[in-house]
Amino acid sequence: MTCREVAEVLHDYVSGELDDSENGEIFRHLQNCESCRAKARQMQELRTRIRDLLRTPAPGHLRARVLSLRSE
Ligand SMILES: [Zn+2]
Repeated sequence: MTCREVAEVLHDYVSGELDDSENGEIFRHLQNCESCRAKARQMQELRTRIRDLLRTPAPGHLRARVLSLRSE
């Protein structure tokens, strides 16, 4: 697998949406490829951050503002 091919499916890989054989191929590539490993790590961190953001409830005043906007 080339770095290019890995880059194309890396998002699916970190999302856990690939099947076992694809997962295995990418895993092996990442073990031997520093730059793809860094990319995978960044993508993983981004995913975690977005998930945390979505999980954090909006502050009260922001929520009130959104609600008031909706009723206009
Ligand atoms: Zn690579």
